[in-house]
Amino acid sequence: MFFDALIDFVFPKVCVGCGVWGSFLCKDCVDRLDFVDQVCPMCGEKSLMGWTHPRCKSKWGMDGLISIYEYQEPIARAVIDGIKYGFNRELARIVLKDFRFETGERFDMLVPVPLYFYRENWRGFNQARELAEVIGSKLLVRVENVLERKRNTKQQVTMKTKEEREENIRGAFKISEKFKNSKLKKLKILLVDDVFTSGADMRECTKVLKKAGVKMVWGLSLSH
Ligand SMILES: [Zn+2]
Ligand SMILES: [Zn+2]
Repeated sequence: MFFDALIDFVFPKVCVGCGVWGSFLCKDCVDRLDFVDQVCPMCGEKSLMGWTHPRCKSKWGMDGLISIYEYQEPIARAVIDGIKYGFNRELARIVLKDFRFETGERFDMLVPVPLYFYRENWRGFNQARELAEVIGSKLLVRVENVLERKRNTKQQVTMKTKEEREENIRGAFKISEKFKNSKLKKLKILLVDDVFTSGADMRECTKVLKKAGVKMVWGLSLSH
């Protein structure tokens, strides 16, 4: 109790949406947040429940995407930034509490999209991993670091076209040692990242996973 009070004193709980004291996201702001319409992860157009359109399906492509918020929405952006810069598990839990995962699929494993090596060290955590842990405990699915980043890619924001982004990310990921040799065969995996943005990272991760024998890959992000 004393420790909690001390923590509240040192790190006061302030709503990231409106600044009111008492919680990282107040009830009013939670109520104001709308869940986003789902899109196909391959073409970005609307799609029921985030399923990849039949016309967009490909052998190494993603099978679907779950996004939670609209990134353009100011409160949603404040929440996502709050999670990204100084990971806040409580905030992630509040955000995910009412969200229902309706993919119709049962996943074997949650896999975080690995961060750039230097960035992970600089902030001391990988928000995708933290997010995966919170979702994993909600869905009762284990989280595994199946993927590693091979080299430092340029920041995607500096890339202008979709082609440039895809080119920049090509070959950036590999399967970690522990999961080599068919250990991933026939699995259904849910990839987790904080934002989907262009989707180039998730699509590349999917390709690497499927080439290693994974049967199905969905993505989950806080926003697209
Ligand atoms: Zn608020
Ligand atoms: Zn599509």
